Amino acid sequence: MNLPEYVNEPYADYTVADNNAAYRAALENVRGQLGRDYPLIIGDQHIMLTDAILSVNPCNPQQVIGRVSSATAAHAQQALEVAQTAFQSWKNTSLETRVAVLVKAAQIIRERKLEYNAWLTLEVGKNYAEAEGETAEAVDFLEYYARSALSLLKTVQTYQLPGEHDRAEYIPLGVGVSITPWNFPFAIFLGQACAPIVAGNTMIVKPAEDSAVIAYKAIELLLEAGLPHGVINYLPGLGEVVGDALVKHPMTRFISFTGSKSVGLHINAEAAKVGAGQKWIKRVTLELGGKDSMIIDETADLEAAASAAVAGAFGFAGQKCSALSRLIVVDSVYAQVLESVTQKVKALTVGDPADNKYVNAVINQESLEKSKHYLEIAPTEGRVTVGGSASSNPETEGYFVQPTVVADVKPHAKLAQDEIFAPILTVIPVKDFEEAVQVFNNTDYGLTGGIFSSDPQRLERAERELHVGNLYLNRKITGAMVGCHPFGGFNLSGTDSKAGGPDYLLHFVQMKSIARKI
Ligand code: NAP
Ligand code: MG
Repeated sequence: MNLPEYVNEPYADYTVADNNAAYRAALENVRGQLGRDYPLIIGDQHIMLTDAILSVNPCNPQQVIGRVSSATAAHAQQALEVAQTAFQSWKNTSLETRVAVLVKAAQIIRERKLEYNAWLTLEVGKNYAEAEGETAEAVDFLEYYARSALSLLKTVQTYQLPGEHDRAEYIPLGVGVSITPWNFPFAIFLGQACAPIVAGNTMIVKPAEDSAVIAYKAIELLLEAGLPHGVINYLPGLGEVVGDALVKHPMTRFISFTGSKSVGLHINAEAAKVGAGQKWIKRVTLELGGKDSMIIDETADLEAAASAAVAGAFGFAGQKCSALSRLIVVDSVYAQVLESVTQKVKALTVGDPADNKYVNAVINQESLEKSKHYLEIAPTEGRVTVGGSASSNPETEGYFVQPTVVADVKPHAKLAQDEIFAPILTVIPVKDFEEAVQVFNNTDYGLTGGIFSSDPQRLERAERELHVGNLYLNRKITGAMVGCHPFGGFNLSGTDSKAGGPDYLLHFVQMKSIARKI
């Protein structure tokens, strides 16, 4: 099987009038499909429950995106049994057949990209460019893991002991559980499910409550692409209920999780326990939160740096794990950078992403309340130069938080240490590059980060000393591209499993070594 060389999926430009009109037409089409009921999918059964999760548009919470059946621990048991049965045949299905499903799924996404973009706009609040970036990333994950499976899993190099025929092969692990966040509900959801699947595992997927409808759309397309029933099982529900049941169950062989630090660490602890009848040590990959920094020194292109800071901090309202939340600026250019960043933030449009505004609402009431808490302490820990408030009536107006810049914050302040996940940027003054490096590394996290400088020696030091999984020099710190920027964090940001990287599939296989005497 020969696939064309991997390239990242190109983006459409929605400033072009025809493209923009097509996007609006797709939104209209999807608006006509809102408010439906969605079942669980276990094997070939669609199970509609009266107990449902309500998914709403965060920018207009009156608008119900859909009602999604909410699975219980009993459904987790049922799904594990079905996935275990499906594993017996899927593991023996040829690699080429498994790869073909991913390639077909990528093609379906390309053909219906605008429709998926529109669901992303309405269910989680992505503007046109953010939604486009996500559907393209979904295509990239599928195409990349398809090629990765063919190159990585087929052969294992071993030496030959004299008198023996020695070889080794990768075999799948078994039934895995994938638990995902709402902020990349299509790309991460598909990538995290399909990497283990192409390696021969079967999966139970638990999407986030706030994005359970787009997840259903993703399952539909995988089934349409030819994935046999039972290889993927869709189990939306409450994290604390069905998520917890799946994590603890002795039949679960591995858990792949992306989400917050607190939930991830809880899962890690639970997964370490060996349940009754359990025959294996559960393998766990965790990709967690961040408190991501960018340094600007006195040699930097200050205009480019300020633009990159604003894009990194306020794209998708700061709700990316990679989002910039701490801008570290050396004293001699501090005032100038702060002024430039403040002016650029004042110019951002805030509002409905369906009208392609730049800064959307945060995902839900809980996130709005969390933002309000940090906006309250902002004047005590620093100086607000722009923004500083949130919706007075979120129920009717959407969960909007004004894009906010808080200057003059100390490196150990709460605003400088806690992941807020909202359009709130903390700016920290430092006396020089040395202090900037220290402050950069002073959080519990280590996901993304960057530096703007024109000094080659400092850039070299930055490469060695800035301790993050994804480091960016003289560019924004968001927008990792599958295959080019393997993605995953250090420290409490995760197990550094590097999604979209050359070794990622190895998390979902085990190596069997076979020596035959001749
Ligand atoms: P979250 O609250 O941790 O939820 C993530 C998933 O875990 C959801 O599906 C959630 O279900 C489920 N869950 C909650 N409690 C659980 C439990 N006790 N047992 C099992 N599952 C449980 O995170 P989020 O708010 O969706 O996402 C934002 C976070 O994800 C941020 O911290 C962000 O930095 C991180 N993130 C990291 C990366 C990365 O690559 N490192 C990428 C994207 C996002 P419910 O929806 O039902 O609560
Ligand atoms: Mg929740």
